[in-house]
Amino acid sequence: MAEHDVDLFVIGGGSGGVRAARVAAEHGASVMLAEEYRLGGTCVIRGCVPKKLLVYASRFHGEFEDAAGYGWTVPHASFDWTTLIANKDREIARLEAAYGATLAKAGVKVVKTRAALLDAHTIQLTDGARVRARHVLIATGGAPSYGDQISGIEHVISSNEAFHLSDFPRRVVIQGGGYIAVEFACIFNGLGSEVTLVYRGENILRGFDDDVREHLRNEMQTRGITVTCGHTISSVEQAGDEFVTKLSDGKTIASDKVMFAIGRRPNVMGLGLENVGVKIQEHGGIEVDEYSRSSVPHVYAVGDVTNRVNLTPVAIREGHAFADTLYGNRPTPVDHANVPTAVFSEPEVGVIGLTETQARGRFDRLDVYKTSFRPMKATLSGRQTRSFMKLLVDGTTDRVVGCHLVGPDAGELIQLVGVAVKMGATKADFDATMAVHPTAAEELVTMREKAMSYTRQAAE
Ligand SMILES: Cc1cc2nc3c(=O)[nH]c(=O)nc-3n(C[C@H](O)[C@H](O)[C@H](O)COP(=O)(O)OP(=O)(O)OC[C@H]3O[C@@H](n4cnc5c(N)ncnc54)[C@H](O)[C@@H]3O)c2cc1C
Repeated sequence: MAEHDVDLFVIGGGSGGVRAARVAAEHGASVMLAEEYRLGGTCVIRGCVPKKLLVYASRFHGEFEDAAGYGWTVPHASFDWTTLIANKDREIARLEAAYGATLAKAGVKVVKTRAALLDAHTIQLTDGARVRARHVLIATGGAPSYGDQISGIEHVISSNEAFHLSDFPRRVVIQGGGYIAVEFACIFNGLGSEVTLVYRGENILRGFDDDVREHLRNEMQTRGITVTCGHTISSVEQAGDEFVTKLSDGKTIASDKVMFAIGRRPNVMGLGLENVGVKIQEHGGIEVDEYSRSSVPHVYAVGDVTNRVNLTPVAIREGHAFADTLYGNRPTPVDHANVPTAVFSEPEVGVIGLTETQARGRFDRLDVYKTSFRPMKATLSGRQTRSFMKLLVDGTTDRVVGCHLVGPDAGELIQLVGVAVKMGATKADFDATMAVHPTAAEELVTMREKAMSYTRQAAE
C-alpha cells in the first residue's frame, strides 16, 4: 500500500485553495480538496462578487436622479429586493459550478465535507474517512467576528446573512468602520434604506489615508448616511417587528436590521492544528514564511487564514506561488508590498502604497500633491459631490510611494496606477504622460503644485 493516498490535500475551496489545487494538479500532483460549504469560498459565495452585484444595483438610484439634469425624464423607479437576490443567487450558482468544472478538468478530486488534521499526515473527514497526504495546504479563510457578547447579539446579522435577507430592510444599523461596513452602508443607502453606521473609532476606514477617510465620510453623510463615530452598540432588543439598538452613550435607534461588520477572524478552530504543532500568530493567523510554509514543514497555509493581506487576489497569488514552489520546481515568494485595493463605496476609493501618516518620517523629504474637484458629470446633474486625489512622492528619488483616490471608478483607476507604482514610476514619469482629456484621471498627470512638503527633521 502506498504511504500516501494523495500528494496534496487542500482544506478549503475558496480563492486560495482552488487556485493552489488546480495549479498543483496541472504540475502533475495528485490532489484532493475538501470544501465544507460551497466551492468558490467567501469571495464568490458571500464576499467580493455578490457584494459588487449589490453595489451595481445600489448605484442605479443615483443614475436615475442624475439623468434629469441631462434632459431625461425617468418615470418613478421602483426596486424589488427579491428579484435582485434571486438573480444574484443564480449568478453565484453559475460561478460555483464553473469552479467545480475547472477543478474536475484539472483532475482534482473534490470532497464536499469538513476536514481536519488528525496527525501530521492524516486528514479526517466528517464521514469518518481518513486520507493520508504527503503535503497539506490549509486555505480555510476567515469568518465574521461578533466582538464582545452583548445582550441581544442573536438578533445581529453579519455580511454572510446580509446577502440572503428575505425582506428588504427599510432601516439598517451597521456597526463597524472597515471597508465591509462602509460598503454595506452605501449599498443599503443606495437601495433606499435609512442607514446609521456606528463605529467606535474616531473615523471610518482605519488604516486608510486620513484625507480619504475624511472625504469619504463627508460624501456618505451628504448622501444621507448617519455616521456615528466614537460609539459602540451596547445592546439590541427586539420590539415587535423592529429592533432597538442602544449605543454606548445611551441613545437608541429603531431599525429593521442590525448588522455587525467589525472584523473577521482566521478559521483556525477545529482544524486539529494543535495535533501537529502548527504555530498560530498573535493576530490569530497561521504563521507562515514567504513560501506559505507553516512551522511544520509539510503543512502550508494561504489566504485569509494566515491573516497577511486579506484580499482575494492575494489569496490567489499565494495559492499559485505555493503550487509553483512545491510542484512546479519554481520557488516563488509572494511580494505583499504595494497591493492596490478598492473600497466599493459611493463614491469609490482606490489606494496603493503608503498613507501620508506612514510616509512622513520615512523619507528625507516627502512631497504631497492633492486635489479635490467636482466631477464633470456632477455639473449638469447638480449632484453635490467632489472627487479627491493624492500623490505622495519621495522627494529624494522622485518615486511615487502612495496614491489615494476617491471618486467614480477609483477601483478601476488604481489598478493601472498600481502598475506604475509597482514599476517604481516617478512623479516626472506621471508628468511626462500625456493627459487623456476630458477625464478625472488626467488630474493624476497634471498635479503640479505641491500641497505640502515634509523634511525628515520637521516630521520628527
Ligand atoms: C463581504 C466581503 C466582501 C469582500 N470584498 C472583497 C473585495 O471586494 N475584494 C477583495 O479582494 N476581497 C474581498 N473580500 C475578501 C475575500 O473574500 C477574501 O480575502 C478571500 O475570499 C480569501 O480567500 P481564501 O481562499 O483565503 O478563503 P475563503 O475564500 O474564505 O475560502 C475558505 C473556504 O474554506 C472552507 N472551509 C473552512 N474550514 C473548512 C474545513 N475545516 N473543511 C473544509 N472546508 C473548510 C470555507 O467554507 C470556505 O469556502 C471580501 C470579504 C467579505 C466577507
